[in-house]
Amino acid sequence: MEQSSASPAPRLTVALTFDHDAMSSEVNRGGGAVMISRGEFGPRVGVGRILALLERHGVDATFFVPGHTAVTFPDSVAAIVAAGHELGCHGWTHEDLASLDEAAEREVLVRSRDQIARAWGRVPAGFRAPYWSLSPRTLATVEELGFRYDSSLMADDVRLYRVRHGVVHGTWEGSHLGAPGRLIEVPISWTLDDWPHFEPGRLGLGPMSAPSKVLEIWTEELRWAHANEPGGLLTITMHPEAIGRSSRIAMLERFIETAKGLGSVTFDRLDRAVERWEAAGGVERAAFQAREIV
Ligand SMILES: [Zn+2]
Repeated sequence: MEQSSASPAPRLTVALTFDHDAMSSEVNRGGGAVMISRGEFGPRVGVGRILALLERHGVDATFFVPGHTAVTFPDSVAAIVAAGHELGCHGWTHEDLASLDEAAEREVLVRSRDQIARAWGRVPAGFRAPYWSLSPRTLATVEELGFRYDSSLMADDVRLYRVRHGVVHGTWEGSHLGAPGRLIEVPISWTLDDWPHFEPGRLGLGPMSAPSKVLEIWTEELRWAHANEPGGLLTITMHPEAIGRSSRIAMLERFIETAKGLGSVTFDRLDRAVERWEAAGGVERAAFQAREIV
């Protein structure tokens, strides 16, 4: 939902973000037909249910889309764009960037940025690392390539901050956290990610939470932020092939309804939330002071 410039600032902004991985990661790792089909559920079923839900509630969201998904499922991505949602970058075939050499990593970042720009019709502002896995160079390159924000780090929960470069870790002498650059961080967490709660690994092994458990965790995080972190941004990470399953999409609707019921809650895209934070002076959490390299 867009806020008019005359509206007072919301007490809490909620960002619903969807990583439209589809089959990209399985293609990357040479997965078989069954695991590929799990990814296909995203564009075939999940995205349609998500778009209908978002439209019903007047919610604008952010979709991080691997280049492979944009090329393979152009209609799915076009439907997301037509509904007014934001596109961000998420690698090409969902590579683990920490495993790539410098040239290969740069090629992935450049090609995926350009492909998303073609699909969206504008240059993407946002980047989210596949697997939330970064090489030591990733975020400096992301900043250099003109992205405005990253959403892969966990140093905060509902407060934005600037990504630091030149970090040096020592043992006895401790760590120096570097100096903040231009890139803005929209922090994330596994807690607020549907995947580890819902999706087991290969052969169906691993936990599969009841939607009621995940709804309880997300609702408590929501209530806490609303009560204790005025002006915060709560970012939820989801995947169409996970949240698009019927019991879970029903859960997401209950979460949206609960958030609306709290009052003074706005749902928005990350690019707009980042823009507002910058326009308001880009103030980080006040209590935190990091050592910088001198
Ligand atoms: Zn992903």
